[in-house]
Amino acid sequence: MISFKLFGMNVRLHFSFLLLLSIFLLLEQLEQGSRFLLAVLWHELGHLLVLLAQKQQVTLLDCSAFGIRMERSSCGTFWQDFLLHLAGPAFNLLATLFLLPWNKLSAIFHLVLATLNLLPILPMDGGNLAALVLGQLLPPRAAERSCRLLSALTWTLLLILGAWLFLRHWNPAMLIFTILLAFQCSA
Ligand SMILES: [Zn+2]
Repeated sequence: MISFKLFGMNVRLHFSFLLLLSIFLLLEQLEQGSRFLLAVLWHELGHLLVLLAQKQQVTLLDCSAFGIRMERSSCGTFWQDFLLHLAGPAFNLLATLFLLPWNKLSAIFHLVLATLNLLPILPMDGGNLAALVLGQLLPPRAAERSCRLLSALTWTLLLILGAWLFLRHWNPAMLIFTILLAFQCSA
């Protein structure tokens, strides 16, 4: 992981982020790479606009193959946090609807990004949303345990799906994503 400071904000570039950029460059898939990066930036714009609307300051920018995570100077209320985590996938879903008649490949990138980010696995947006909701329903310790269990169960299902896709159709994308996700979760 590479870390540096930019405008008083800590920036972290994870190995998985650099690996993904290198794969796009190596495969000379710059067009697909730039479409993917635009979808990621659009996703983060959703989060950033909500943060700005809540008058929060960004203290950390954490870039990995699973998106760019931001941390802010102070915690919000339940609904502020709920909107913040929902904003990224919601922006991607809006872009999917808008782009579908004009640019199917970009629309698919946005849809895939929204779906993956909504998976109830920490530190994805879906995992954070699940943690927030469980935190409202259960005592703190039980909420934390349930959230970890939900993350582990979802990850195991993804691993089985990834292994099946690889063995049946020789498509390693889901398997690689799931393995990289495990590194991201333990980081
Ligand atoms: Zn997000």
